[in-house]
Amino acid sequence: MADERKVVETCPDGLFIGGEWRPAEGGRTFAVEDPSTGTALCEVADASPADGTVALDAAVAAQAEWAAHPPRERGEILRRTYELMTARADELALLMTLEMGKPVAESRAEIAYAAEFFRWFAEEAVRIGGDYTTAPNGKGRVLIMRQPVGPCLLITPWNFPAAMGARKIGPAVAAGCTMVMKPASQTPLSMLKMAELLTEAGLAPGVLNVITTSHSGAVMEPLIKDPRARKLSFTGSTEVGRVLLAQASEQVLRTSMELGGNAPLIVFGDADLDAAVDGAMIAKMRNIGEACTAANRMYVHSSVMAEFSRRLTSRMAALKVGRGTEDGVEVGPLIDAKQRDKVAGLVDDAVRRGARLLTGGTVAEGNGYFYPPTVLADVPRDARVQSEEIFGPVAPLTAFDTDDDAVELANDTEFGLVSYMFTADLNRALRVCERLETGMIGLNQGMVSNPAAPFGGVKQSGLGREGGRVGIDEYLETKYVAVSL
Ligand code: NAP
Repeated sequence: MADERKVVETCPDGLFIGGEWRPAEGGRTFAVEDPSTGTALCEVADASPADGTVALDAAVAAQAEWAAHPPRERGEILRRTYELMTARADELALLMTLEMGKPVAESRAEIAYAAEFFRWFAEEAVRIGGDYTTAPNGKGRVLIMRQPVGPCLLITPWNFPAAMGARKIGPAVAAGCTMVMKPASQTPLSMLKMAELLTEAGLAPGVLNVITTSHSGAVMEPLIKDPRARKLSFTGSTEVGRVLLAQASEQVLRTSMELGGNAPLIVFGDADLDAAVDGAMIAKMRNIGEACTAANRMYVHSSVMAEFSRRLTSRMAALKVGRGTEDGVEVGPLIDAKQRDKVAGLVDDAVRRGARLLTGGTVAEGNGYFYPPTVLADVPRDARVQSEEIFGPVAPLTAFDTDDDAVELANDTEFGLVSYMFTADLNRALRVCERLETGMIGLNQGMVSNPAAPFGGVKQSGLGREGGRVGIDEYLETKYVAVSL
């Protein structure tokens, strides 16, 4: 308990603007809750729209100098942040578990993942290239420069409180952009702590400004419409993404959108079932199922359905549910009562429409927003769970017979973030990969997240990519100079 109190008490709780911690206008605050108990952990500053404007003022004031800062030094700040995060992983992981609920081992994995974005973009900062070519007519020259976009607005969700921020801050710092970052109101602490570490690593005042608020819409809309903002990068639900895109259209603000998912996981008849069950467990249960990449629908060839569902059900039923700080716990609470009720409602709807409950499905008594690992069989196509993002530990199984059926079922959604496929046949794998309408595919594995890879979706799962070689492009403008020689 002492450690828990200490990590919360030593976490900053103010707004971080122009390199200084300060209270919100009028000293207003809001509570951050521990989802495993439903009790308040602490209070943090509740920014007003005026506070938001002050944060953007600071980002705008710092932009020119930051853009001129040597790329090598920008990279070294990121590298030092990676080292600081790695050295303090235990403390950061505990803080994350307290505000978000996931087991400490998973929080540690997220801290490592987040730190890796800083390491990756530390390396990219010095590789921002341009181009100089001869025009086809042989006379003119084509000079291409790449310059920082300018002050960026960054908005992140609660499910990966550190990594979703690092995936934006890393490339923005590397590219020479300043930022106003708004973390989710349910999990602001990890971001406040990360701002402290970036400062310790040498980030100049005003480059990163962090505002926490309980009324995100009122605070962010004026900033999105402020002509001094040059970019909006949002990770969150498709529903909110659409609203922000409409707001951004007013000044044709450049946007990156990492939105919701509804990932299919396909197990073909020739799959290595050990790998398929392992992969399904990761794709489903990482982050308590509260991941945009979570396998939302599992399509299993009818020849292996009985064996696959038996093995998956026994693995799901054996998982230990509890507070994320306790030893051996593999499944923490959901983020809040609303999310738990939504998950319960989706399961009830599927059962009403004819699905069979193989394990789970009953909300436990007691404090905290726990929901048991659940497997549903024979889930009909019209069940809501097939079309809505579950964001919880529920695996819906449906049988298929032909490859065409599997692809048709998988693509039958407005989302297109990620899909997973298990097969031993390379030709089938590549044929199906080409037909799946998602930005990412896990082939014989249940996880795609990797700082060195371009993360992002098609259809209503978003616009743009984060991470990989292209991740920094989101924060750079291309300028072409027509040179007469
Ligand atoms: P959300 O409700 O869309 O919120 C995301 C962020 O937007 C939060 O910081 C939230 O602030 C803020 N926000 C909400 N309404 C806003 C508005 N009108 N104006 C400005 N900001 C606003 O999503 P969530 O529930 O936190 O996260 C879950 C969703 O994120 C899922 O759909 C998941 O798939 C998606 N996600 C996608 C990716 C990806 O890479 N594609 C990664 C992770 C998560 P408040 O906290 O104050 O509401």
